[in-house]
Amino acid sequence: MKPKKPYSRLQRNILDKTGWRCVVCGEKIRRKEFTKEHLLPKSRGGNSHFNNLWACHYDCNQEKGAMTLEEYTYRCMEERRLLEIKCKLTQKEK
Ligand SMILES: [Zn+2]
Repeated sequence: MKPKKPYSRLQRNILDKTGWRCVVCGEKIRRKEFTKEHLLPKSRGGNSHFNNLWACHYDCNQEKGAMTLEEYTYRCMEERRLLEIKCKLTQKEK
């Protein structure tokens, strides 16, 4: 676990952009969970400038990986849709 340090000016500015919420799941971010999310992943040529950085939970960032936020959101929607279909099918079997 990383030691608790106060937010830097840049970190606070990033958090202000998202209203101190995670850009992936929308939940509030606590100090120990905070991580910087690259809107365009570094592996895709994204930079570390303020405009490309958003606040995100550490876990959400791991989960999202090298996908862009759009790709990740789309994948979540697909998964939810598949889950709903699965639920309906199992309900019918009963
Ligand atoms: Zn999150």
